Amino acid sequence: MKNIVMAISGPSGVGKGTIVDEILKRREDIAESVSCTTRLPRAGEADGREYFFISKEEFLRRIDEGDFLEYDEHFGNYYGTPKSFVEKTLEEKSVILEIDVVGALNAKKAFPDCLLIFVAPPSVEELKKRLVGRASESEEEIERRLSRLEYELAQGEKYDYVVVNDELEKAVQEICDLIDLAKSRE
Ligand code: ADP
Ligand code: 5GP
Repeated sequence: MKNIVMAISGPSGVGKGTIVDEILKRREDIAESVSCTTRLPRAGEADGREYFFISKEEFLRRIDEGDFLEYDEHFGNYYGTPKSFVEKTLEEKSVILEIDVVGALNAKKAFPDCLLIFVAPPSVEELKKRLVGRASESEEEIERRLSRLEYELAQGEKYDYVVVNDELEKAVQEICDLIDLAKSRE
């Protein structure tokens, strides 16, 4: 079976990180892409694990060289998916990109076979509960994220598949099945 690139997107708090961790635990044939960023590492982050931490000069040079499948600016820093890293990883494994909608659609331009999976919450109420339960953002930040929700959920239409993350195990299995289907296609 061939190796594929896939993008997993969805609103903040829907469970993308949790799902990707589960997939990586059970599938040795799948790896997660490591993005480049110009922001400084936070405590506990390691170069090459959470991100490749590079200078703005290097980032701009690599944009010119066409090394990013997609990139964007958030909060004054650049973030991008390095094509060279994805291509190298693809020699051995399929690659998951956990990125936003704009990034996912750009990835599809670079890799037309890219499998686009959108993770949706079972309900808006449940999504709010997960965001609050994760306790990693302030109330204000949670409100800001929820204010984008309607727009974000509408983006699911642009994806190949929408998977509802109701029961974690079921969602992980469903995504693994979609990956196997894409891997087996010529
Ligand atoms: P994201 O990466 O999409 O922002 P996370 O993976 O951080 O979301 O998940 C947000 C919270 O929801 C976490 O506390 C996680 O444990 C929880 N969670 C994820 N999937 C489920 C699920 N199927 N049912 C209940 N809680 C879940
Ligand atoms: P953080 O600094 O908190 O790790 O990430 C800030 C934002 O950058 C998040 O919204 C995250 O999704 C986004 N981001 C991380 N990596 C990439 C990437 O490779 N490409 C794009 N477009 N955004 C990214």
